[in-house]
Amino acid sequence: MNERQLGRLAAAGLAELRFDAPMAEYCTLRAGGKVAALIEVANLEELRRVLALLAEEEIKFLIVGRGSNLLVVDSGYSGAIIRLKGEFNTIALQECNEIATIIKVGAGCALGKLVSWCSGQGLAGLEFLVGIPGSVGGAVRMNAGAWGQEIGARLEAIELIDRQGKLRQIPFSGLRLSYRTLDLAEGRIDNTIITAALFSLKTDREEDIRSRCAAYLERRKGKQPAGVASAGSFFKNPPDDFAGRLIEVAGLKGTSCGAAMISPVHGNFLVNTGGASATDILTLMEQVQAAVFAQFAIKLEPEVRIIQENDSP
Ligand SMILES: Cc1cc2nc3c(=O)[nH]c(=O)nc-3n(C[C@H](O)[C@H](O)[C@H](O)COP(=O)(O)OP(=O)(O)OC[C@H]3O[C@@H](n4cnc5c(N)ncnc54)[C@H](O)[C@@H]3O)c2cc1C
Repeated sequence: MNERQLGRLAAAGLAELRFDAPMAEYCTLRAGGKVAALIEVANLEELRRVLALLAEEEIKFLIVGRGSNLLVVDSGYSGAIIRLKGEFNTIALQECNEIATIIKVGAGCALGKLVSWCSGQGLAGLEFLVGIPGSVGGAVRMNAGAWGQEIGARLEAIELIDRQGKLRQIPFSGLRLSYRTLDLAEGRIDNTIITAALFSLKTDREEDIRSRCAAYLERRKGKQPAGVASAGSFFKNPPDDFAGRLIEVAGLKGTSCGAAMISPVHGNFLVNTGGASATDILTLMEQVQAAVFAQFAIKLEPEVRIIQENDSP
């Protein structure tokens, strides 16, 4: 970002603006470079104003959620990063009929808050998301899933805003969902920001919903490293196999590069044992890819979004 662009942002009266923001503070991997400007927006009007300013000044930008599936390279990102908060954290009942209950959830809402709200309302269908530390926007964009279920299957529609500030609702039929990604039937979703998601849920007894959540959490505890910085599964599972299994069979568990390590608990978790740089993590990623390819002729693709200088939303 040049001086004029920085000056325009500084003078725009934005409530939450941070220059040179270290993304390690905003990512669960606790690593990564700085972003020139981090802007937190609390409502649609503010988001529109920010988008107009960024367009006018030709400032590139990215949207992030709770940073649980991304890593910014150490050299940083010279554009702006937008995060949603305030009104984007709300959950509301939209419609109730004999088949389903539709709820509308802001894209900034934490999945944990959503699952717990649904339990309290006796609404079932999203329990499998318990323990995933993302936001609704990030989870929908990633088509997050666990235990054989995916968030996309529960969607009724999404709301998104484009770079020109135009807000639209896209029904489920207009979405193209696949393993860990979402696109639109009309084209790439990349130039848009998801502002809300509408879910179609069934009613159930609160105690049954809570006991399913507890069971999912218990399964997670046994299988995944706890209390250590990570982005969850680092690689996508290749067709008909598991990245964690391949990494384990290749004998890579416990391998480290600087302060980045392949978790001894789960081969697909690259963890930051304290003070790892993004370069440590990415070097380890490449070592894993090379070793797995050498042994199985399978190229592991990162599930984690790696943010580099030339990225746009
Ligand atoms: C301990 C741990 C366990 C995990 N377990 C699972 C699991 O079981 N299953 C699973 O699928 N994932 C899992 N993850 C990964 C991660 O939590 C999910 O992918 C999550 O949904 C990402 O949400 P986020 O808000 O953190 O997104 P971010 O990491 O902030 O962003 C991810 C991507 O989504 C985009 N994005 C974010 N918000 C928006 C928006 N509003 N509009 C458009 N694009 C947006 C970003 O640009 C980026 O490309 C785990 C992570 C951790 C740390």
